[in-house]
Amino acid sequence: DGGGNVRVVVRVRAFLKRELERSARCLVKMDPITQQTTLLAPDEDDQPGPKSKSRKVMEDKNFTFDSSFWSHDTKDDHYAHQEDVYNALGEEFLDHNFEGYHTCIFAYGQTGSGKSYTMMGTPDQPGLIPRTCEDLFERIQAAENENTNVAYNVRVSYFEVYNEHVRDLLVPVNTSLPPNYLKIRESPTEGPYVKDLTEVPVRSIKEILRHMKNGDASRTVASTKMNDTSSRSHAVFTIMLRQIHHDMETDETTERSSRIRLVDLAGSERAKSTEATGARLREGSNINKSLTTLGRVIAALADPKTLRPGTKRKDVVPYRDSILTWLLKDSLGGNSKTAMIACIAPSDYDETLSTLRYADQAKRIRTRAVVNQDQMS
Ligand code: ADP
Ligand code: MG
Repeated sequence: DGGGNVRVVVRVRAFLKRELERSARCLVKMDPITQQTTLLAPDEDDQPGPKSKSRKVMEDKNFTFDSSFWSHDTKDDHYAHQEDVYNALGEEFLDHNFEGYHTCIFAYGQTGSGKSYTMMGTPDQPGLIPRTCEDLFERIQAAENENTNVAYNVRVSYFEVYNEHVRDLLVPVNTSLPPNYLKIRESPTEGPYVKDLTEVPVRSIKEILRHMKNGDASRTVASTKMNDTSSRSHAVFTIMLRQIHHDMETDETTERSSRIRLVDLAGSERAKSTEATGARLREGSNINKSLTTLGRVIAALADPKTLRPGTKRKDVVPYRDSILTWLLKDSLGGNSKTAMIACIAPSDYDETLSTLRYADQAKRIRTRAVVNQDQMS
């Protein structure tokens, strides 16, 4: 049975140079036994940004998530390395993919909270995406060495959503041409998809990592040219896994296909600052449309009681109001096992509280995943 709640985990990162320089205090505590996360009320001086008299009363807040990853201080016994995050989440999700389920893991949080570090990581400290790729091909290799009668087929795609446009990250950036934005289509069987998106077949760890790196570089190139768009864009890395099983005795062929979606969202603080500036920055409001809509979609899915009698769920959840939510429709409220990683900075009360509340709401979302299996003959 694939019915279940969205898995919600939280990860706090170490201090960065700028935080050490202002002798920031760590406002986050995590209990390794209960998995409880506590956000401590700061002294007003602790907080970045302008001081305001209108600041709401700040108090300690407690939250409980499925896992709390303490990545603040490497010296602690319960420090969560990249490997620990993979072992606690990525590995199990890959098990589900081999069982035939679609999965989605997305990282949410303010800019600089560790989303890209968690999803992509660094060459020395690879994150969930490269670890998933490696584990995937190790498992395929092991199965092939055992001569099971399963054939594997893996394809990969990588795109980003920026300013309500979809850009293919597996096509090399050609700076002398206008950007080629792709359109969204919806098929009755497959749901929403990106039309003409590059899907490359990959046969080895080396190949898939090469595409991952090229895509990531393409994201960075555009980002540098356009004044750090990466914090304002959503990156969606997708692996399609097909397993074709042939039963020698019955001569039957069955196919299982699953989709592994790994999403690095735009910085969550943008959604709020847009609201603050209203219509003043038209571009800004567009950039954030996907993120603000994601918030509304999560709220609608978390509290279906807001449905008036006679209204259908699909009419109320505003998936189609933004590109990102439209494309992630299945992952958020449909046929998928889904996890959210709430990334938080250690010393930013307002942003962290907002992220933890968002994550708390996401815990209430239920998806209904099914094994995607077809009889071929
Ligand atoms: P985001 O993608 O949310 O904007 P990044 O992943 O780029 O944030 O992280 C911001 C900075 O913090 C980067 O320099 C990154 O290497 C560092 N960082 C984030 N999380 C960790 C962590 N768990 N351990 C060590 N460094 C981290
Ligand atoms: Mg990032």
